[in-house]
Amino acid sequence: MPSHQCFALHIKRKMIIYKHAFDVIAYLKKVEQTNTSTGFVPTMGALHKGHLSLLEKSKQVCDITVCSIFINPTQFNNTEDFKKYPVTLEQDIYTLEKNGCDMLFLPDVNEMYPQGTIAKKHFNLGYLETVLEGKYRPGHFQGVCQVVNRLLTIVSPTHLFMGQKDYQQCMVIKKLLALENFNVQLIICPTLREETGLAMSSRNLRLSDEQKKQASDIYKSLLNIKEKLKPGTLHFLKKEAEKYLINKNCIPDYIEIAEANSLKIINEWNGKDDLVILAAAFIGDVRLIDNILLKRQDSFYL
Ligand code: AMP
Repeated sequence: MPSHQCFALHIKRKMIIYKHAFDVIAYLKKVEQTNTSTGFVPTMGALHKGHLSLLEKSKQVCDITVCSIFINPTQFNNTEDFKKYPVTLEQDIYTLEKNGCDMLFLPDVNEMYPQGTIAKKHFNLGYLETVLEGKYRPGHFQGVCQVVNRLLTIVSPTHLFMGQKDYQQCMVIKKLLALENFNVQLIICPTLREETGLAMSSRNLRLSDEQKKQASDIYKSLLNIKEKLKPGTLHFLKKEAEKYLINKNCIPDYIEIAEANSLKIINEWNGKDDLVILAAAFIGDVRLIDNILLKRQDSFYL
């Protein structure tokens, strides 16, 4: 082997994989002496470029980057969806190491829920839990909070990286950080899309090529609203978007327009408030979500 290759191999930092919380805690305590910031990217695996953009951002901002892969049973309100959730673990491990992740936390369900998966604690999410994803997926955000709360307690990151693709989830996590007094900076990263506009998602692995084309109509329906949006009533725009999706065989749970900072659903726009347009729709039995933010300043409201 030429000497320069040998050198490259020596300086490459290896990714460490831990399955147990106490190992993660011990390792991070050790490296804390030389590193001041820890970035954390929680995922459910079946990784795509959207996930990797979060990892990349964390590497730019933080000394150490920790990712987790855990398909969290408590956030699935539909058992079939849980059973069919894509798993590509070997590929994920390879991808994370190749892309410079420092540590992968890979817990099993007992590690995450030592006292069982029946919720011991209720998070007071208020209005956020009653609309959109909260309304159509009862219990979903309680499950998200349970798992993120536990992960944050174990990893104790300085920065948490999440995707705008799950807009409502970002708002829920912001609330969780406040409720539980976590001293963590939440960084929201933009949605990565396929060339067709389809938001990247692990669940896209469950779609055929034909269905992927169909699914890109979800984003088109959001763009249609954006183009036609003007002050006044929004009723017609929403109805038209709903019909558009149904015609394209994307069966919507909702396509809604909300205030960007509160997620309050609006039916009449004053032409000033920043908005988010959100949709959830089924392609066959695969449920996908997407959103676009219409804001006047270049900063997130979250
Ligand atoms: P998941 O594995 O689906 O739970 O997602 C893990 C993280 O990746 C969440 O913070 C998501 O919002 C984020 N994410 C998922 N899809 C995308 C995407 N297309 N672009 C950017 N971030 C994403």
